[in-house]
Amino acid sequence: MSGKLLQVTIDRDGCISCGACWATCPEFFEENPEDGFSQVVGAYRVGGNPAVGEAPAELAECVQDAANGCPVEVIHIAV
Ligand code: SF4
Repeated sequence: MSGKLLQVTIDRDGCISCGACWATCPEFFEENPEDGFSQVVGAYRVGGNPAVGEAPAELAECVQDAANGCPVEVIHIAV
């Protein structure tokens, strides 16, 4: 994996709040306390948008694992 940031988007409208992503990668994903859907933790959010974030290289593997494990495939990653 390169040292590039991963651009991560969560299609929160499609999230079913299964909890897999924040169990797999709690450094990057968390449950929104109001709607129960996944969001990017504040430290990695872009523009204050809970659905958009940038993951540093050291979190790339767990973010990718979380995306792969999402049962409804709403976590999207671009480099
Ligand atoms: S793994 Fe997918 S469906 Fe489950 S909480 Fe995370 S984003 Fe939502």
